[in-house]
Amino acid sequence: MTDFFHIDDLLTEEQRLARDAVRDFVEKEVQPHIEQDAQEAKFRTELIPKLGALGAFGPYIPQKYGCGGMDYISYGLMMQELEKCDSGLRSCASVQSSLVMFPIFKFGSEEQRMKFLPKLASGEWVGCFGLTEPDHGSDPSSMKTHFVDKGDHYLLNGAKLWITNSPIADVAVVWAKNEEGRVKGLLVEKGMQGFTAPEIHGKWSLRASLTGELVFDNVKVPKENLLPNADGLSSPLKCLDSARYGISWGVVGSAINCYETALNYSLERKQFDKPIAGFQLTQKKLAELLTEITKAQLLCLRLGQLKDQGLARTAQISMAKRNNVAMALNTARECRQMLGAMGITDQFPIMRHMMNLESVITYEGTHDIHLLILGAHITGISAFT
Ligand SMILES: Cc1cc2nc3c(=O)[nH]c(=O)nc-3n(C[C@H](O)[C@H](O)[C@H](O)COP(=O)(O)OP(=O)(O)OC[C@H]3O[C@@H](n4cnc5c(N)ncnc54)[C@H](O)[C@@H]3O)c2cc1C
Repeated sequence: MTDFFHIDDLLTEEQRLARDAVRDFVEKEVQPHIEQDAQEAKFRTELIPKLGALGAFGPYIPQKYGCGGMDYISYGLMMQELEKCDSGLRSCASVQSSLVMFPIFKFGSEEQRMKFLPKLASGEWVGCFGLTEPDHGSDPSSMKTHFVDKGDHYLLNGAKLWITNSPIADVAVVWAKNEEGRVKGLLVEKGMQGFTAPEIHGKWSLRASLTGELVFDNVKVPKENLLPNADGLSSPLKCLDSARYGISWGVVGSAINCYETALNYSLERKQFDKPIAGFQLTQKKLAELLTEITKAQLLCLRLGQLKDQGLARTAQISMAKRNNVAMALNTARECRQMLGAMGITDQFPIMRHMMNLESVITYEGTHDIHLLILGAHITGISAFT
Protein backbone atom coordinates (compact mmCIF):
# COMPACT_ATOMS: atom_id res chain seq x y z
CA MET A 1 0.00 0.00 0.00
CA THR A 2 1.31 3.43 -0.97
CA ASP A 3 3.03 5.00 2.06
CA PHE A 4 5.88 7.15 0.76
CA PHE A 5 6.63 8.86 4.09
CA HIS A 6 6.39 5.72 6.29
CA ILE A 7 3.28 6.84 8.11
CA ASP A 8 2.78 3.23 9.10
CA ASP A 9 5.74 3.61 11.50
CA LEU A 10 3.80 6.27 13.41
CA LEU A 11 0.78 4.05 14.02
CA THR A 12 0.12 2.01 17.13
CA GLU A 13 -0.39 -1.74 17.07
CA GLU A 14 -4.10 -1.24 17.72
CA GLN A 15 -4.43 1.20 14.82
CA ARG A 16 -2.67 -1.18 12.43
CA LEU A 17 -4.83 -4.10 13.56
CA ALA A 18 -8.04 -2.11 13.04
CA ARG A 19 -6.92 -1.09 9.55
CA ASP A 20 -5.74 -4.55 8.53
CA ALA A 21 -8.94 -6.26 9.72
CA VAL A 22 -11.03 -3.96 7.52
CA ARG A 23 -8.60 -4.40 4.62
CA ASP A 24 -8.86 -8.21 4.79
CA PHE A 25 -12.63 -8.08 5.05
CA VAL A 26 -13.01 -5.75 2.08
CA GLU A 27 -10.66 -7.78 -0.10
CA LYS A 28 -12.52 -11.02 0.61
CA GLU A 29 -16.13 -9.92 0.95
CA VAL A 30 -16.66 -6.79 -1.14
CA GLN A 31 -13.95 -6.35 -3.74
CA PRO A 32 -14.89 -9.46 -5.79
CA HIS A 33 -18.37 -8.12 -6.65
CA ILE A 34 -18.15 -4.33 -6.29
CA GLU A 35 -17.97 -3.60 -10.03
CA GLN A 36 -21.03 -5.73 -10.71
CA ASP A 37 -22.91 -4.18 -7.79
CA ALA A 38 -22.16 -0.68 -9.05
CA GLN A 39 -23.27 -1.62 -12.56
CA GLU A 40 -26.50 -3.06 -11.15
CA ALA A 41 -26.98 -0.21 -8.63
CA LYS A 42 -27.11 -2.77 -5.84
CA PHE A 43 -26.15 -2.49 -2.17
CA ARG A 44 -25.71 -5.80 -0.37
CA THR A 45 -27.52 -5.40 2.94
CA GLU A 46 -25.91 -8.63 4.18
CA LEU A 47 -22.68 -6.64 4.51
CA ILE A 48 -24.13 -4.55 7.35
CA PRO A 49 -23.97 -7.14 10.19
CA LYS A 50 -20.53 -8.16 8.90
CA LEU A 51 -19.32 -4.56 9.13
CA GLY A 52 -20.80 -4.48 12.63
CA ALA A 53 -18.91 -7.63 13.63
CA LEU A 54 -15.75 -5.99 12.31
CA GLY A 55 -16.26 -2.99 14.60
CA ALA A 56 -16.72 -0.53 11.72
CA PHE A 57 -19.75 1.15 13.31
CA GLY A 58 -19.07 3.76 15.99
CA PRO A 59 -15.53 2.49 16.64
CA TYR A 60 -14.70 5.55 18.78
CA ILE A 61 -17.79 5.26 21.02
CA PRO A 62 -17.19 3.58 24.42
CA GLN A 63 -17.36 -0.19 24.73
CA LYS A 64 -20.13 0.13 27.30
CA TYR A 65 -22.50 0.73 24.36
CA GLY A 66 -21.26 -2.24 22.34
CA CYS A 67 -18.76 -0.13 20.39
CA GLY A 68 -14.99 -0.28 19.95
CA GLY A 69 -13.76 2.45 22.30
CA MET A 70 -10.92 3.10 19.85
CA ASP A 71 -9.20 6.33 18.89
CA TYR A 72 -10.01 8.58 15.94
CA ILE A 73 -6.96 7.57 13.94
CA SER A 74 -8.20 3.96 13.98
CA TYR A 75 -11.58 5.21 12.78
CA GLY A 76 -9.91 7.16 9.98
CA LEU A 77 -7.84 4.18 8.87
CA MET A 78 -10.95 2.00 8.79
CA MET A 79 -12.72 4.56 6.58
CA GLN A 80 -9.68 4.66 4.30
CA GLU A 81 -9.81 0.89 3.78
CA LEU A 82 -13.57 0.92 3.08
CA GLU A 83 -13.28 3.75 0.57
CA LYS A 84 -10.28 2.17 -1.11
CA CYS A 85 -12.92 -0.28 -2.28
CA ASP A 86 -15.88 2.06 -2.81
CA SER A 87 -17.08 5.42 -1.49
CA GLY A 88 -20.58 3.95 -1.08
CA LEU A 89 -19.33 1.34 1.36
CA ARG A 90 -17.57 4.04 3.38
CA SER A 91 -20.66 6.26 3.21
CA CYS A 92 -22.78 3.52 4.78
CA ALA A 93 -20.32 3.17 7.66
CA SER A 94 -19.72 6.89 8.17
CA VAL A 95 -23.42 7.69 8.27
CA GLN A 96 -24.06 4.91 10.76
CA SER A 97 -21.08 5.94 12.93
CA SER A 98 -20.85 9.71 12.74
CA LEU A 99 -24.33 10.82 11.78
CA VAL A 100 -26.48 8.34 13.70
CA MET A 101 -24.52 6.79 16.58
CA PHE A 102 -22.52 9.95 17.34
CA PRO A 103 -25.62 12.19 17.85
CA ILE A 104 -27.30 9.52 19.97
CA PHE A 105 -24.15 9.22 22.06
CA LYS A 106 -23.51 12.97 22.26
CA PHE A 107 -27.03 14.36 22.56
CA GLY A 108 -29.12 11.36 23.68
CA SER A 109 -30.33 10.28 27.10
CA GLU A 110 -28.79 7.20 28.75
CA GLU A 111 -31.99 5.28 27.90
CA GLN A 112 -31.69 6.25 24.22
CA ARG A 113 -28.02 5.26 24.19
CA MET A 114 -28.75 1.86 25.70
CA LYS A 115 -31.71 1.26 23.38
CA PHE A 116 -30.08 2.22 20.08
CA LEU A 117 -26.28 2.09 20.23
CA PRO A 118 -25.65 -1.64 20.78
CA LYS A 119 -28.01 -2.60 17.93
CA LEU A 120 -26.50 0.01 15.61
CA ALA A 121 -22.98 -1.11 16.56
CA SER A 122 -23.70 -4.73 15.70
CA GLY A 123 -25.44 -3.81 12.46
CA GLU A 124 -28.70 -5.36 13.62
CA TRP A 125 -30.20 -1.91 13.02
CA VAL A 126 -29.37 0.59 10.30
CA GLY A 127 -29.63 4.34 10.78
CA CYS A 128 -29.78 7.44 8.59
CA PHE A 129 -29.41 11.20 9.10
CA GLY A 130 -31.94 13.66 7.73
CA LEU A 131 -30.77 17.24 7.41
CA THR A 132 -30.95 18.13 3.68
CA GLU A 133 -34.37 19.05 2.28
CA PRO A 134 -35.60 19.37 -1.32
CA ASP A 135 -35.29 23.18 -1.13
CA HIS A 136 -32.56 23.53 1.52
CA GLY A 137 -29.13 21.92 1.01
CA SER A 138 -26.20 24.22 1.72
CA ASP A 139 -28.48 26.36 3.87
CA PRO A 140 -30.04 23.96 6.39
CA SER A 141 -30.94 26.81 8.73
CA SER A 142 -33.91 27.55 6.42
CA MET A 143 -35.31 24.02 6.82
CA LYS A 144 -39.08 23.64 6.73
CA THR A 145 -39.48 20.27 8.48
CA HIS A 146 -41.11 21.01 11.82
CA PHE A 147 -42.95 19.50 14.75
CA VAL A 148 -45.54 20.65 17.25
CA ASP A 149 -46.07 19.56 20.84
CA LYS A 150 -49.33 17.65 21.14
CA GLY A 151 -49.08 16.96 24.88
CA ASP A 152 -48.20 13.26 24.96
CA HIS A 153 -46.35 13.22 21.60
CA TYR A 154 -44.85 15.43 18.87
CA LEU A 155 -46.46 15.73 15.44
CA LEU A 156 -43.82 15.85 12.68
CA ASN A 157 -44.32 17.13 9.12
CA GLY A 158 -41.90 17.77 6.27
CA ALA A 159 -39.48 16.00 3.95
CA LYS A 160 -35.77 15.27 3.62
CA LEU A 161 -33.95 14.47 0.39
CA TRP A 162 -30.69 12.74 -0.54
CA ILE A 163 -30.53 10.63 2.58
CA THR A 164 -27.90 7.85 2.61
CA ASN A 165 -29.23 4.49 3.91
CA SER A 166 -32.80 5.84 4.25
CA PRO A 167 -34.62 3.08 2.32
CA ILE A 168 -33.36 0.42 4.76
CA ALA A 169 -33.11 2.50 7.93
CA ASP A 170 -34.63 1.28 11.20
CA VAL A 171 -34.08 4.70 12.76
CA ALA A 172 -33.66 8.17 11.28
CA VAL A 173 -32.00 11.02 13.16
CA VAL A 174 -34.19 13.85 11.89
CA TRP A 175 -33.42 17.55 12.32
CA ALA A 176 -36.59 19.64 12.54
CA LYS A 177 -37.75 22.94 13.97
CA ASN A 178 -39.98 23.20 17.03
CA GLU A 179 -42.73 25.79 17.45
CA GLU A 180 -40.14 28.42 18.43
CA GLY A 181 -38.17 27.73 15.23
CA ARG A 182 -35.33 26.06 17.14
CA VAL A 183 -33.60 23.09 15.44
CA LYS A 184 -33.97 19.85 17.44
CA GLY A 185 -33.15 16.19 16.83
CA LEU A 186 -35.84 13.49 16.75
CA LEU A 187 -35.40 9.72 16.49
CA VAL A 188 -37.99 8.58 13.96
CA GLU A 189 -38.40 4.83 13.83
CA LYS A 190 -39.38 2.59 10.93
CA GLY A 191 -43.07 1.71 11.04
CA MET A 192 -44.24 4.96 12.62
CA GLN A 193 -47.47 5.89 10.88
CA GLY A 194 -47.06 8.52 8.15
CA PHE A 195 -43.29 7.91 7.81
CA THR A 196 -41.98 6.65 4.46
CA ALA A 197 -38.47 6.47 2.94
CA PRO A 198 -38.63 5.94 -0.84
CA GLU A 199 -35.41 5.18 -2.72
CA ILE A 200 -33.88 7.59 -5.24
CA HIS A 201 -33.02 5.89 -8.54
CA GLY A 202 -30.99 6.95 -11.56
CA LYS A 203 -27.73 7.99 -9.86
CA TRP A 204 -24.50 7.84 -11.90
CA SER A 205 -22.56 8.15 -8.64
CA LEU A 206 -22.49 6.04 -5.45
CA ARG A 207 -24.41 3.39 -7.34
CA ALA A 208 -23.56 0.64 -4.82
CA SER A 209 -25.07 2.73 -2.02
CA LEU A 210 -28.68 3.36 -1.06
CA THR A 211 -29.97 6.94 -1.15
CA GLY A 212 -33.53 8.01 -0.55
CA GLU A 213 -36.03 10.46 0.83
CA LEU A 214 -37.66 10.79 4.23
CA VAL A 215 -41.31 11.86 4.15
CA PHE A 216 -43.20 12.82 7.33
CA ASP A 217 -46.95 13.15 7.01
CA ASN A 218 -48.35 13.86 10.47
CA VAL A 219 -45.97 11.39 12.13
CA LYS A 220 -46.62 10.93 15.85
CA VAL A 221 -43.20 10.81 17.49
CA PRO A 222 -43.12 9.72 21.15
CA LYS A 223 -41.70 12.37 23.45
CA GLU A 224 -38.95 10.06 24.63
CA ASN A 225 -37.58 10.13 21.04
CA LEU A 226 -36.43 13.75 21.26
CA LEU A 227 -32.65 14.03 21.72
CA PRO A 228 -32.63 15.98 25.00
CA ASN A 229 -29.22 17.59 24.63
CA ALA A 230 -29.42 18.71 20.99
CA ASP A 231 -30.27 22.38 20.63
CA GLY A 232 -29.85 24.53 17.56
CA LEU A 233 -28.13 24.00 14.22
CA SER A 234 -24.75 23.58 15.91
CA SER A 235 -25.84 20.07 16.97
CA PRO A 236 -26.16 18.57 13.46
CA LEU A 237 -23.06 20.55 12.44
CA LYS A 238 -21.07 18.80 15.18
CA CYS A 239 -22.14 15.47 13.68
CA LEU A 240 -21.00 16.67 10.27
CA ASP A 241 -17.58 17.54 11.72
CA SER A 242 -17.18 13.93 12.76
CA ALA A 243 -18.35 12.57 9.40
CA ARG A 244 -16.21 15.00 7.39
CA TYR A 245 -13.22 13.89 9.40
CA GLY A 246 -13.91 10.31 8.25
CA ILE A 247 -14.30 11.46 4.64
CA SER A 248 -10.88 13.16 4.77
CA TRP A 249 -9.31 9.77 5.48
CA GLY A 250 -11.67 7.76 3.30
CA VAL A 251 -10.94 9.53 0.03
CA VAL A 252 -7.21 8.92 0.47
CA GLY A 253 -8.15 5.25 0.07
CA SER A 254 -9.90 5.84 -3.26
CA ALA A 255 -6.99 7.99 -4.48
CA ILE A 256 -4.48 5.27 -3.57
CA ASN A 257 -6.55 2.65 -5.36
CA CYS A 258 -6.63 4.79 -8.54
CA TYR A 259 -2.92 5.65 -8.30
CA GLU A 260 -1.79 2.04 -7.77
CA THR A 261 -4.01 0.83 -10.62
CA ALA A 262 -2.62 3.46 -13.01
CA LEU A 263 0.97 2.82 -11.92
CA ASN A 264 0.68 -0.93 -12.56
CA TYR A 265 -1.07 -0.36 -15.87
CA SER A 266 1.52 2.13 -17.08
CA LEU A 267 4.35 -0.30 -16.31
CA GLU A 268 2.66 -3.02 -18.39
CA ARG A 269 1.10 -1.06 -21.23
CA LYS A 270 3.48 -0.50 -24.13
CA GLN A 271 3.21 2.13 -26.86
CA PHE A 272 5.98 3.17 -29.25
CA ASP A 273 7.84 0.02 -28.11
CA LYS A 274 8.18 0.96 -24.45
CA PRO A 275 6.05 1.01 -21.30
CA ILE A 276 4.02 4.22 -21.11
CA ALA A 277 5.51 4.60 -17.59
CA GLY A 278 8.78 5.42 -19.38
CA PHE A 279 7.43 8.64 -20.90
CA GLN A 280 8.15 11.85 -19.04
CA LEU A 281 4.52 12.98 -19.19
CA THR A 282 3.39 9.80 -17.43
CA GLN A 283 6.10 10.17 -14.82
CA LYS A 284 5.07 13.76 -14.19
CA LYS A 285 1.53 12.60 -13.53
CA LEU A 286 2.65 9.77 -11.22
CA ALA A 287 5.13 11.95 -9.30
CA GLU A 288 2.59 14.70 -8.75
CA LEU A 289 -0.17 12.30 -7.75
CA LEU A 290 2.07 10.55 -5.22
CA THR A 291 3.08 13.93 -3.79
CA GLU A 292 -0.54 14.99 -3.34
CA ILE A 293 -1.55 11.63 -1.82
CA THR A 294 1.35 11.89 0.63
CA LYS A 295 0.40 15.43 1.65
CA ALA A 296 -3.20 14.30 2.21
CA GLN A 297 -2.03 11.35 4.34
CA LEU A 298 0.03 13.67 6.54
CA LEU A 299 -2.90 16.06 6.87
CA CYS A 300 -5.12 13.18 8.00
CA LEU A 301 -2.62 11.93 10.55
CA ARG A 302 -2.17 15.35 12.15
CA LEU A 303 -5.91 16.01 12.11
CA GLY A 304 -6.42 12.62 13.75
CA GLN A 305 -3.95 13.53 16.51
CA LEU A 306 -5.80 16.80 17.11
CA LYS A 307 -9.14 14.98 17.11
CA ASP A 308 -7.87 12.48 19.68
CA GLN A 309 -6.75 15.39 21.85
CA GLY A 310 -10.16 17.06 21.44
CA LEU A 311 -8.50 19.98 19.65
CA ALA A 312 -9.65 19.58 16.03
CA ARG A 313 -11.54 22.66 14.88
CA THR A 314 -14.33 22.85 12.32
CA ALA A 315 -12.22 24.96 9.95
CA GLN A 316 -9.36 22.43 10.10
CA ILE A 317 -11.78 19.62 9.28
CA SER A 318 -13.21 21.69 6.40
CA MET A 319 -9.71 22.23 5.03
CA ALA A 320 -8.94 18.51 5.18
CA LYS A 321 -12.27 17.43 3.64
CA ARG A 322 -12.03 20.01 0.87
CA ASN A 323 -8.38 19.37 0.04
CA ASN A 324 -8.49 15.61 0.20
CA VAL A 325 -11.69 15.13 -1.80
CA ALA A 326 -10.45 17.46 -4.55
CA MET A 327 -7.11 15.62 -4.48
CA ALA A 328 -8.87 12.24 -4.83
CA LEU A 329 -11.12 13.44 -7.65
CA ASN A 330 -8.16 14.90 -9.53
CA THR A 331 -6.23 11.66 -8.98
CA ALA A 332 -9.13 9.65 -10.39
CA ARG A 333 -9.39 11.92 -13.46
CA GLU A 334 -5.64 11.81 -14.20
CA CYS A 335 -5.45 8.05 -13.64
CA ARG A 336 -8.47 7.46 -15.84
CA GLN A 337 -6.63 9.15 -18.68
CA MET A 338 -3.52 7.08 -18.08
CA LEU A 339 -5.54 3.95 -18.84
CA GLY A 340 -6.76 5.31 -22.16
CA ALA A 341 -9.92 3.59 -23.38
CA MET A 342 -9.56 0.82 -20.79
CA GLY A 343 -10.06 3.48 -18.13
CA ILE A 344 -13.75 3.83 -18.93
CA THR A 345 -14.54 0.15 -18.33
CA ASP A 346 -15.48 -1.77 -15.19
CA GLN A 347 -12.37 -3.90 -15.57
CA PHE A 348 -10.66 -1.20 -13.53
CA PRO A 349 -12.01 0.70 -10.49
CA ILE A 350 -11.00 4.20 -11.58
CA MET A 351 -14.11 5.40 -13.42
CA ARG A 352 -16.31 4.11 -10.57
CA HIS A 353 -14.21 6.02 -8.01
CA MET A 354 -14.33 9.11 -10.21
CA MET A 355 -18.12 9.04 -10.41
CA ASN A 356 -18.44 8.31 -6.68
CA LEU A 357 -16.20 11.23 -5.79
CA GLU A 358 -18.55 13.61 -7.62
CA SER A 359 -21.00 12.93 -4.77
CA VAL A 360 -18.35 13.10 -2.08
CA ILE A 361 -17.26 16.55 -3.27
CA THR A 362 -20.91 17.67 -2.96
CA TYR A 363 -22.19 16.02 0.19
CA GLU A 364 -21.36 17.00 3.77
CA GLY A 365 -20.76 20.53 2.53
CA THR A 366 -19.82 21.27 -1.07
CA HIS A 367 -16.28 22.15 -2.13
CA ASP A 368 -17.23 25.83 -2.29
CA ILE A 369 -19.07 25.84 1.04
CA HIS A 370 -15.94 24.50 2.78
CA LEU A 371 -13.97 27.29 1.15
CA LEU A 372 -16.44 29.78 2.64
CA ILE A 373 -16.12 28.13 6.07
CA LEU A 374 -12.36 28.59 5.83
CA GLY A 375 -12.74 32.15 4.54
CA ALA A 376 -15.02 33.05 7.44
CA HIS A 377 -12.58 31.50 9.90
CA ILE A 378 -9.60 33.37 8.45
CA THR A 379 -11.25 36.79 8.17
CA GLY A 380 -13.96 36.69 10.81
CA ILE A 381 -16.41 37.77 8.08
CA SER A 382 -19.04 35.36 6.77
CA ALA A 383 -19.47 35.47 2.98
CA PHE A 384 -22.34 32.97 2.92
CA THR A 385 -25.09 35.50 2.37
C1 LIG B 1 -25.28 10.64 -2.79
C2 LIG B 1 -25.63 11.68 -1.76
C3 LIG B 1 -25.84 11.30 -0.44
C4 LIG B 1 -26.23 12.26 0.52
N1 LIG B 1 -26.49 11.85 1.81
C5 LIG B 1 -27.02 12.76 2.70
C6 LIG B 1 -27.46 12.32 4.00
O1 LIG B 1 -27.30 11.15 4.40
N2 LIG B 1 -28.07 13.22 4.82
C7 LIG B 1 -28.26 14.54 4.44
O2 LIG B 1 -28.84 15.30 5.22
N3 LIG B 1 -27.83 14.97 3.21
C8 LIG B 1 -27.24 14.12 2.33
N4 LIG B 1 -26.84 14.54 1.08
C9 LIG B 1 -27.11 15.92 0.67
C10 LIG B 1 -25.88 16.81 0.58
O3 LIG B 1 -25.34 17.07 1.84
C11 LIG B 1 -26.29 18.08 -0.21
O4 LIG B 1 -26.50 17.67 -1.55
C12 LIG B 1 -25.27 19.18 -0.10
O5 LIG B 1 -25.24 19.74 1.20
C13 LIG B 1 -25.53 20.32 -1.12
O6 LIG B 1 -26.87 20.71 -1.09
P1 LIG B 1 -27.69 20.80 -2.47
O7 LIG B 1 -27.49 19.55 -3.23
O8 LIG B 1 -29.09 21.20 -2.12
O9 LIG B 1 -26.99 21.96 -3.29
P2 LIG B 1 -27.24 23.54 -3.14
O10 LIG B 1 -27.15 23.94 -1.72
O11 LIG B 1 -28.48 23.90 -3.90
O12 LIG B 1 -25.97 24.10 -3.88
C14 LIG B 1 -25.87 24.14 -5.33
C15 LIG B 1 -24.58 24.87 -5.69
O13 LIG B 1 -24.62 26.20 -5.18
C16 LIG B 1 -23.47 26.46 -4.41
N5 LIG B 1 -23.79 27.37 -3.29
C17 LIG B 1 -24.80 27.27 -2.39
N6 LIG B 1 -24.75 28.29 -1.53
C18 LIG B 1 -23.69 29.06 -1.87
C19 LIG B 1 -23.10 30.25 -1.36
N7 LIG B 1 -23.57 30.85 -0.25
N8 LIG B 1 -22.03 30.76 -1.99
C20 LIG B 1 -21.50 30.14 -3.09
N9 LIG B 1 -22.00 29.01 -3.61
C21 LIG B 1 -23.09 28.48 -3.02
C22 LIG B 1 -23.01 25.10 -3.88
O14 LIG B 1 -21.63 25.09 -3.55
C23 LIG B 1 -23.35 24.20 -5.06
O15 LIG B 1 -22.29 24.23 -5.98
C24 LIG B 1 -26.37 13.62 0.13
C25 LIG B 1 -26.09 14.00 -1.19
C26 LIG B 1 -25.71 13.05 -2.14
C27 LIG B 1 -25.42 13.48 -3.54
